[in-house]
Amino acid sequence: MAEIPYFRYKLTGNELKYLTEVLESGWLTTGRMAQVFEKNFADYIGCKYALAVSSCTAALHLAVEALNISHQDCVFVPTMTFTATAEVLRYVGAQPILLDVDRNSRNITPAILQEAINNNPSTKHLMLVHFGGQAACLNDTDREGIISLCRRNGIKIIHDAAHALPSKHGGKLIGSFPDVSCFSFYANKTITTAEGGMLTTDDHEIYERVKLMRLHGIDRDSWDRFTSVKPKWEYDIVAAGFKYNLPDVLAAIGVAQLEQIDSLRAARQNVAQMYIDRLHGQSQIRLPNLTNNEDHAWHIFQIELLTDTKLKKNELINELSDVGIGCSVHYKPLHKMTYYKKICECPENNYSNANEIWDVSISLPIHPHLSEHDVEQICKVLINKTNSHSYLAA
Ligand SMILES: *Cc1c(COP(=O)(O)O)cnc(C)c1O
Repeated sequence: MAEIPYFRYKLTGNELKYLTEVLESGWLTTGRMAQVFEKNFADYIGCKYALAVSSCTAALHLAVEALNISHQDCVFVPTMTFTATAEVLRYVGAQPILLDVDRNSRNITPAILQEAINNNPSTKHLMLVHFGGQAACLNDTDREGIISLCRRNGIKIIHDAAHALPSKHGGKLIGSFPDVSCFSFYANKTITTAEGGMLTTDDHEIYERVKLMRLHGIDRDSWDRFTSVKPKWEYDIVAAGFKYNLPDVLAAIGVAQLEQIDSLRAARQNVAQMYIDRLHGQSQIRLPNLTNNEDHAWHIFQIELLTDTKLKKNELINELSDVGIGCSVHYKPLHKMTYYKKICECPENNYSNANEIWDVSISLPIHPHLSEHDVEQICKVLINKTNSHSYLAA
């Protein structure tokens, strides 16, 4: 059987064309192409401002800085996420408060957040992950959604939207909701620039601060040689900024990837639907409980093993790997990590949902190169392994 990798990027649009333009332009680092990427991104998302940066982690750090989060602050963070979501808080000395997630969606829910607010009434910030590409419950018709709950309690929201491109909630794309959102173009994300990120917001103050801080705190008015009255070699430094800009070489790939964003999403949804059709009714496998397939970015497709726990998950991943099928696990929750155990108060039994998810979940390959035949192969092996006597008895 041919190898089926967990992920493979697809660069079959205008990537090479725009990249060549940049390479031949005489300007490699941040310039015109990064601006085009930002404008097209903001237009696509439907937000006022988009700022291209070197990674999602950089965007998250800049967002934390722009919201003035400091060592005096505590911030709500889901435990079921990648370390970047929480580590940026440590850059400024803030304290993450790790929250359990919903057993089905793996997201923070209004109910989880309400309880966290009751227990920590002075916490005024939330890092919100849209797990796997399914948006968290931002607004709701029947009960209060996360945004209104946050507004009422004076809580600002940083969306870790690394999985959520493109994801919708109530007809609007993630990235267009308050207060600020951070996207990733890392190689295995839904669109890629190899390494890269984008920050979006409608807030002019956040925009100005992030624009300043992503490139050394250089005052743009004097930096911009076209609009400034000062000589072009003179500039001012108004803060100790960072080196988080996205070079044009990478922005070129991003502009081309963005052109294909909807067809890439549709291809992943097609793969997800094939999994659902073929694995439906298998007694050992639990399929994801999803709200609206069209609103999902389909960055991650997880199944759960119903038979047993940890050992079985690892065993199945190894057996799939033995026949050339790449799988992944999202995530070992942060409260189980040495570092977060050291700095957070996070007793295991506060995280019963995340613990269960970690024990039984496997992320299956989901990317635009997967054929019907590939999915067929994966499902055949999965059904065979999960039903086999040796597997059940192990
Ligand atoms: C990938 C990822 C990040 C980090 O993205 P980079 O662009 O690699 O910095 C942050 N948060 C989540 C949830 C991710 O999956």
